Amino acid sequence: MIVILSSGATKENLQHITRMLEERGYAVHVSEGVERTIVGAVGVPADPTQKAAVMEQFEALPYVDRVVPVSKPYKVVNKQFHPDPTVINVRGIKIGDPTSVVMMAGPCTVETEEQLMESARAVKAAGAHILRGGAYKPSTSPYSFHGHGEAALKMLAAAREELGMPIITEVMDVRDVELVCEYADILQIGTRNMANFNLLREVGKTQTPVMLKRGMAATIEEWLQAAEYIASQGNKNVMLCERGIRTFETYTRNTFDINAVAAVKELSHLPIIADPSHATGKASLVNAVSRAALAAGADGLIIEVHPNPEKALKDGAQSLLPEAFVKLMHDLAPIAGAVGRRL
Ligand code: PEP
Ligand code: MN
Repeated sequence: MIVILSSGATKENLQHITRMLEERGYAVHVSEGVERTIVGAVGVPADPTQKAAVMEQFEALPYVDRVVPVSKPYKVVNKQFHPDPTVINVRGIKIGDPTSVVMMAGPCTVETEEQLMESARAVKAAGAHILRGGAYKPSTSPYSFHGHGEAALKMLAAAREELGMPIITEVMDVRDVELVCEYADILQIGTRNMANFNLLREVGKTQTPVMLKRGMAATIEEWLQAAEYIASQGNKNVMLCERGIRTFETYTRNTFDINAVAAVKELSHLPIIADPSHATGKASLVNAVSRAALAAGADGLIIEVHPNPEKALKDGAQSLLPEAFVKLMHDLAPIAGAVGRRL
């Protein structure tokens, strides 16, 4: 970190900060300018868990103007230390492979066996690789549908059996991790749980691949730190999912942050999946935003598809009809080709 002293800082102040840094295990490099003195603290503190606290302590000193971190607050997921992309193998499907695109599709929520199978057969026939479907649903209202739980996990497993498609489903609670792992090929952490650090740690102790959605009000750095929570526990099979963030805009449900797709590629080696369904909240916008995401470098897409969106228990407005999903697959093919990938 770099400590920038205020313009009125004295020699005594400089000696004081130097001593404090050395006491905490840093090597100190001082650069005395005409107006300002800059103190570079090199290394890690004797107790690395104190790093953030140390920065705040120094910022509290009256003669310190500002403390600037030099290194990123995440390591395991940092591209600097692992330049090669992480490729996650899910039952033979590679996620993060720079030459392919992974399509995940299915209903928001598992409602009935018929609804799930109809969606699953349709997306499989159109070329999707992985089946999505919620068994445990987060909901803003405590009075709405929260999913069929284990019964839905069983239906997903039956669909996998019939169609040979791996399944992705959300886990919301630390107490359910073991059970969901028995069924799921990929665990989804939803936007509302991105900062549920106990849950992140718990899925980090498994070896089941995890798709970590970005918190709806999380910065890219906070999101990468959430991924670090999982990966630092030992589960390196982590992919990120940009699903739109909250902005002042109300026409769409969220605002798809295309910057985040490119930024994640720059900062991390983890695969990045785009979710245009939740990002837009409108079926009519999903095709265009999907194409944009793919062009920007997304490794895959997750799309909500429902045979009867007008009857969907959740997220009907953003769910594609099976025929719209067929069209989407068709429209994505040339974009994939243009960026050197195949669908
Ligand atoms: C979902 O995938 O259906 C979902 C609830 O997503 P998010 O957590 O992004 O809102
Ligand atoms: Mn949904």
